[in-house]
Amino acid sequence: MPADRHRTSPEPAGKLPPQHFPARRSAHAHHSARAGASPTAATVHRRQLLLGLAVGALALGTGLSLQDPDTVPGHPIPAGGGTDPGAAQPAGAFAPTTTPAPAPATPLPPITRVPAPRGVITALPGTGNLLALTVDDGTSSDVVAAYTKFCTDTGLRLTFFVNGANRSWTDNAPALRPLVESGQVLLANHTWSHPDITTLSRAALREEITRNDTFLRTTYGITGLPFFRPPYGHHNPTTDQVAADLGYPTIALWEGSLGDSSIITEDFLLSLARQWLQPQHIVIGHANHPAITHTYPQLLDIITQRGLRTVTLADVYTTAH
Ligand SMILES: [Zn+2]
Repeated sequence: MPADRHRTSPEPAGKLPPQHFPARRSAHAHHSARAGASPTAATVHRRQLLLGLAVGALALGTGLSLQDPDTVPGHPIPAGGGTDPGAAQPAGAFAPTTTPAPAPATPLPPITRVPAPRGVITALPGTGNLLALTVDDGTSSDVVAAYTKFCTDTGLRLTFFVNGANRSWTDNAPALRPLVESGQVLLANHTWSHPDITTLSRAALREEITRNDTFLRTTYGITGLPFFRPPYGHHNPTTDQVAADLGYPTIALWEGSLGDSSIITEDFLLSLARQWLQPQHIVIGHANHPAITHTYPQLLDIITQRGLRTVTLADVYTTAH
């Protein structure tokens, strides 16, 4: 099934250096033990990563050459730059003298937005260094909570495709709502209860979409229009028409998967992350099983090392129709 599909071809040998980065402070506690480097080495390494990001951000300015003049301001880089307690302290505060203050963040260039198209999208338009991480379902309230903390701690931007039937989206609404309101996190429509919509009547599909739309509107004050992701990626011209008639003309599929709609090992998940976290990709993951929450430091390392800038779909597409 497409939603559960994960391409398993191994990454070409030698394409990337081994991942042996120190754990970040934003990592879950049970991951901090893997850090072997001294704090000084970790800080220096982190600063090198931030510098690499600045270069990537500059490259973006010339890479995305789309026509629509509508733009949004630049957003913070989701690379842990906001997680260093030393960074938030004024000069002369009790910052450890062994931890130099990080270099000031370079403002990111605005992203040129284009109208969300009618039909299927699987990748972001143009060229550049943007990455749209999209995370679906939310069958685990703990995993949604961990994602929410991950975004809060790091500034990571992502799109959740929500099934309102899962309690996670109600349980975590107080923590998630500020991120939604600031635009750092976008919530979009994945149906109310995750059926294979190609098996539903038109009336049943309308109910699945509108019930979820109402849930998002009443719980978060947004709807995720115009982005609709059919469960399992199963759709057809009829389901597309029903969705479009309800204000969801953009069928948001993906270019690569973290493979975690089922239970997989953290090593396998990271191998897929190294394969698919690439410029201008829309990548699908799931807030269903805990493995992903154990890989956040490594995911950040991959994103940072590659100079990727995470975005929501609304960062890239204008949503007025
Ligand atoms: Zn799903």
